[in-house]
Amino acid sequence: MVDEKRITIALLGNPNTGSTSIFNKLTGLHSSVGNYPRVTVGIRKHTFEYQGWEIQLVDLPGIYSLSCRTDEERESRNFLYHESPDLILNVLDMSNLERNLLLTSQLIEMSIPRISVLNMVDEAENKGVELDEESFAYLLGTPVVETNARDGKGIEALFNAIMAFAEAETQPNLIKLNYDSHLEEAIERTQDHIARLHNNQMSVEHSRWLAIKLLENDETVIKEEGDHTDLIAAVAVERDELERGHSEDAGMLLNNGRYGFVNGLLQETLKINSSSSINRIDSTRVIDAFLLHKWFGMPIFLFIMWVMFESTFTLGAYPMDWIDAGVVLVSDTLNNIMPENMFKDLLINGVLAGVGGTIIFLPNIVILFFFIAVFNDTGYMVRGAVLVDRIMHKFGLHGKAFIPMLTGFGCNVPAIMATRTIEHRRDRLVAILVNPFISCSARLPVFILFTGAFFGESAGTALFGIYMVSIVVALGAALFLSKAVVKGANTSPFLMELPPYRVPTLQSVSTHMSSNASEFLRKVGGIIVVGSIVIWFLQTFPLDVELSKDYQQEISVLEEKPQVNQEMITHLKLEMQQEMQHKSYLGQIGEFVQPIFSPMNFDSNTSIALLTGVVAKEIVVATFGVLYAQGDEVDENTLSLRESIAGSMSVVTAVSFMIFTLLYIPCMSTIAIMYRETQSLKWTGFSIGFSIALAYVLAFAVSFFGGIFT
Ligand code: GDP
Ligand code: MG
Repeated sequence: MVDEKRITIALLGNPNTGSTSIFNKLTGLHSSVGNYPRVTVGIRKHTFEYQGWEIQLVDLPGIYSLSCRTDEERESRNFLYHESPDLILNVLDMSNLERNLLLTSQLIEMSIPRISVLNMVDEAENKGVELDEESFAYLLGTPVVETNARDGKGIEALFNAIMAFAEAETQPNLIKLNYDSHLEEAIERTQDHIARLHNNQMSVEHSRWLAIKLLENDETVIKEEGDHTDLIAAVAVERDELERGHSEDAGMLLNNGRYGFVNGLLQETLKINSSSSINRIDSTRVIDAFLLHKWFGMPIFLFIMWVMFESTFTLGAYPMDWIDAGVVLVSDTLNNIMPENMFKDLLINGVLAGVGGTIIFLPNIVILFFFIAVFNDTGYMVRGAVLVDRIMHKFGLHGKAFIPMLTGFGCNVPAIMATRTIEHRRDRLVAILVNPFISCSARLPVFILFTGAFFGESAGTALFGIYMVSIVVALGAALFLSKAVVKGANTSPFLMELPPYRVPTLQSVSTHMSSNASEFLRKVGGIIVVGSIVIWFLQTFPLDVELSKDYQQEISVLEEKPQVNQEMITHLKLEMQQEMQHKSYLGQIGEFVQPIFSPMNFDSNTSIALLTGVVAKEIVVATFGVLYAQGDEVDENTLSLRESIAGSMSVVTAVSFMIFTLLYIPCMSTIAIMYRETQSLKWTGFSIGFSIALAYVLAFAVSFFGGIFT
């Protein structure tokens, strides 16, 4: 029934019903899933061959209704409406049918063939759900397939159902959802009106959908039909009449009809066997009684976070040493086999110093993301957001912004995109503006380097502290912005959905880890190599600087003496190097910007590192790596980067520097995405200015008060 053996199939369901898991199982891909609502942002497509068919599978963002109130709803609905897929796989969480079927009731109106995919059979079984599948399929007018998208059960049956649809000779019979008679009459009259406008060119199903949407006062459709003023006026009359007759909003009336349909359907087909053995929902409730406890919840959360950072640090130390040893080995080998020249210097003191200095943090990143993946998949992350939400409620802030914040620990760019889930523009703006304060993984190496250099045994705790500062500043800024700057924010009440606890799957945890690891390696291979080379150049050139004295000659004089004073020679060499560095381009830049940072006692190296960090925060560590590499050659006992850093500033300055790095200016990609999502130069500029000001004030405060107390 479909031409050319090609079909487009859309996956759609409520958030967190497993649609991405099914997408992965059908395509063999590994898109990221997560046990909290709204992991899928944006539309994901994949085309593949199956039994001679070309199948384009589209994973739409999970939604609760087909209104156009959120970007996701708009995105999913526009796809269905404008791209009209051949088939919808309506993914339903079988343990939660009542809520899930409301979307289905609206899908029915779109008159696109569907297959009902009852996912999460395992959870439904635990809950004691028994469904009369035959009547269910009959009443919904769709084939029904039970699946467990985690272990792949039912995926083959799903493929069979898809093929049966594709190979069928005739269109399946689509059911119609009937409303009460007054509504039906109003719909019919509106449909007649539409048909006249379109010279009867429009299908009955389509005009019915339009009529319903118009009666519902759906903004998007009203706007699209805006030119047909008499239609809009006629609909308004219909709506008034309905509302007068029923003293209820027309949208509500339609919704009542849909609820009625769902209720009736479930009355007929669903039985919940309450004596069923272990009830997952119950065990979730028991666990939540502890983890979300009024008093213990927060301390437990903080403790778990602390364990996470402590392990990131301590477990990471071992592989870190191995990688470090490897880098030293490569560097020594090159040093021995390569002839002394400029290129060798570039390779060892530029590229290798920068890349080697950064890549040793790979294990930490992998470990941190292991934890984050486990928290995501078990459902604990959302609980963290709930706990934070409780506190923020006291200040009149709502929690919807926290879900995108969680994504920010990985990278702020997708996190800012994830704010599309927030309905009100102002709330969304606040969420976008505070997101850069959430410490992304690019900043992790800086903090590990610095906490390791200055806090010894307590480095893990210090790392935990930095992240807490990150969260507190983000929340504080949200509060400040919504009270003082972005007026009128916080209008939408929000109920955080709590998914049941689930055992994480190895696959999704490893996908999460490896995608973050490879992202990091890509940056190391790209921007960090380039950055290191640039910094090396700026530091090495110009070559013909005028030095204050003729070091070379003084050195050779010393060397010719009968008793060679090695210490003096080293000292002279170091002095020469320092002067050359000072007079290099980089030295001049450093000297130029350093005064800006002098209130915090940052030296010129530190100032330069901050400057390069504007491009991408990953470069900060690489910059230190290159800057401190050159001294090494001269000095007999080469210092590790950590030791060089530890020797270059006080603890107070180090903390001040970490605070500054945490907060100042989002990186280039974040700035770009901010502009794209806000479409406003004003707010993008505001974010830059605001973050720099905040970083400066807080770093200065640390430096100032730290100076008093130490
Ligand atoms: P989406 O938001 O609809 O795309 O849902 P995801 O595919 O991201 O899955 C949400 C969560 O449910 C993840 O933790 C999945 O591992 C889990 N999940 C998906 N399918 C099943 C299933 O059939 N049974 C169980 N127990 N969990 C599932
Ligand atoms: Mg998804």
